[in-house]
Amino acid sequence: MNKKDLNHRFDDLMQDVYRDPDIKRFLSENQTQLSPDAVEKSASKLFEYYAEKNKIAKHEMSQVPGYQPVLVLSNHLIDIGYQPTKELIQEREERRRSHLVRSISMPKMIQDASFKDFNQNENRIAALGLAVKFTNLYIQSPEKFHKGVYIYGSFGVGKTYLLGAIANRLASKNLPSTMIHFPSFAVEMKRSIQGNTFGAKVDSLKRAPLLMIDDIGADASSTWIRDDVLGVILEYRMQEELPTCFTSNFSMQQLQDGYLTISTQGDEEPIKAQRIMERIEYLSTEVEILDTNWRKELSNPDE
Ligand code: ADP
Ligand code: MG
Repeated sequence: MNKKDLNHRFDDLMQDVYRDPDIKRFLSENQTQLSPDAVEKSASKLFEYYAEKNKIAKHEMSQVPGYQPVLVLSNHLIDIGYQPTKELIQEREERRRSHLVRSISMPKMIQDASFKDFNQNENRIAALGLAVKFTNLYIQSPEKFHKGVYIYGSFGVGKTYLLGAIANRLASKNLPSTMIHFPSFAVEMKRSIQGNTFGAKVDSLKRAPLLMIDDIGADASSTWIRDDVLGVILEYRMQEELPTCFTSNFSMQQLQDGYLTISTQGDEEPIKAQRIMERIEYLSTEVEILDTNWRKELSNPDE
């Protein structure tokens, strides 16, 4: 190829570069700062910027993976800086979040739960209001005791979702939380009863700065889970004044009369039930969500 052809090809290429809307905007925004021959002198930079930008747009391997080029002024000429892409920022945010939100057997959907997307209607506003209030107080002074929320209501009304929203809001303020799906946890506990992990597991829940117990009362009642797991955890949290939230299909009264009262043998143990309920009442404020089942509406919109 002779020099003339090469020049031609270069001019052709640069035509596209100069037509790029981001480059055009940069040039016009910085017109007064740029030296008159900046475009000429910085042609290779503009070309690099254009090429890298398009590689990223086509999801091809770029020079600095995870980073995107930006045009910057440098001594009246044009240079390229690299800044993290939206994807990289999101990925970092997700990694940070997953360190802060410890969840045990919780559904994946809680990752995306937020107060902002919590669909509102008059049936849900009280629970949302209480959850937001608790979260704000906790953010203001995480070292103090705040009464958590006890959210109850039937299946699929968004109780677990709301816990997820609390955890994510706190994570955005760098505050850690622990969420456990209590029935799954109870099954796991029964399995590890002879193992040596039992004590450590209960201990880590006792001491978690913020503990959220999901679906309390949904597992088969067991005196052992009630007294040696739940009772031990709640006793400690009440003594140490550690914020704790709950969700349940049952109101506090129903939980006390049913799940907490009936022993594994079928006997009634109202005194023991009352002891646990006193702790739950100390730790949280009850609020009901009376709504239709979202799970059904979302998965089967035609039903
Ligand atoms: P519950 O814990 O009360 O049984 P979930 O929190 O599991 O209910 O919610 C049921 C389904 O509805 C989930 O798939 C969840 O993502 C969705 N959902 C719940 N609340 C909302 C909401 N406010 N906005 C959008 N989706 C929601
Ligand atoms: Mg739930």
